[in-house]
Amino acid sequence: MHRTPPGSSPEDLGQQALFDWEDAAPATPPAPPGGAFRDSSRARRMLDVRQVYAEPAALASPRGRQILARLPEVPVTEVAGHWRIPSLHGNDGNVTRWARIKTETLVLGVKQTLTTRPNGRSADWIAPGASNGCAMACAYCYVPRRKGYANPITLFTNIEAIIAHVRRHVHAQGPKREPNQCDPQSWVYDIGENGDCSVDALVCDNTADLVAAFRRLPTAKASFATKFVNPDLLALDPQGRTRVRFSVMPEADSRLLDIRTSPVTDRIAAGADFLDAGYEVHFNLSPVVLRPGWQRDWADLLVHMDDVLPGRVKEQAAAEIIMLTHNQQLHEVNLGWHPTAEDLLWQPAAQEAKRSENGALNVRYARRIKHDALVRLRGLIAAHAPWLRIRYAF
Ligand code: SF4
Repeated sequence: MHRTPPGSSPEDLGQQALFDWEDAAPATPPAPPGGAFRDSSRARRMLDVRQVYAEPAALASPRGRQILARLPEVPVTEVAGHWRIPSLHGNDGNVTRWARIKTETLVLGVKQTLTTRPNGRSADWIAPGASNGCAMACAYCYVPRRKGYANPITLFTNIEAIIAHVRRHVHAQGPKREPNQCDPQSWVYDIGENGDCSVDALVCDNTADLVAAFRRLPTAKASFATKFVNPDLLALDPQGRTRVRFSVMPEADSRLLDIRTSPVTDRIAAGADFLDAGYEVHFNLSPVVLRPGWQRDWADLLVHMDDVLPGRVKEQAAAEIIMLTHNQQLHEVNLGWHPTAEDLLWQPAAQEAKRSENGALNVRYARRIKHDALVRLRGLIAAHAPWLRIRYAF
């Protein structure tokens, strides 16, 4: 029998936010004594799966069986395909349950098309992701733009095929001959384009398997951005072959836009723990949202990073700067669950239309506004965090 989760409303979001900003929790919460963080109550506040949709092939796979073994008594609904499940993605009533569905619903599927795409900005290559969707609910997130009215995590259970594909691709490249801004020596593969690997690790070993695979690929490096501090990742022993990019933005923006994420101060403070555990630690300054006072607040953030990060993190750190882009369809979905975010994100007077790589019609800051903002932000970094090398600004 299917359990009926309680409804959610925009008003619930205050209660659903994973951590209150004022929480004085340690930067990297310790795993409970004798157990993994993913079994803790903090982890369950992020992901408390009460409904699984699954393709039959995913259910039959070893990874699918492993995931379900950790979710005893959770009802499973078989679906023909993981993409566009009518009662999930096609149900406009789900907009008001946007965050609740992310907390309580999991989709298991088999990734059919395994392709690695060139990138050249954040990474050399975009690897086929082991998930699509996210339990966090950033209002600007591009992942749900074509997903309709819900965007919970879809985990791909054919992880062996994904890793075998990536391994073949790495071997086909041979050694990296020319340094570039992605990395001076290694081919960098983004492994988390459409989700957050730290949260995926709460329910399955896909992230652990990818980190382990890159440990054995001396010419390549995995890379993923995250807004969630998951201490279980500290035990994965990446041996320098995985780059974690903690996304940061000013507190005032994060409180409004980064729904259900770890506090920015925790992400920054976790940098030393992750470095010491064998990760390379970079930062994504993203998205940069322009509003009255943005320069003052970004300056405060950079000063904070300069104050709290130890020298060993600063010495190896680099940053990506990504200016906000938005999308008409997502704007309309957001109006249904988090309209106050749209006051900040949807600024037609300052934004212009842009056709993205996948054909979607997005908006971004007008060329002159964006240029001037990037010049100003680079100046703030030079003044307050001169150790922070900018890999690229976009
Ligand atoms: S953490 Fe990343 S993938 Fe998840 S909702 Fe936020 S932007 Fe999207």
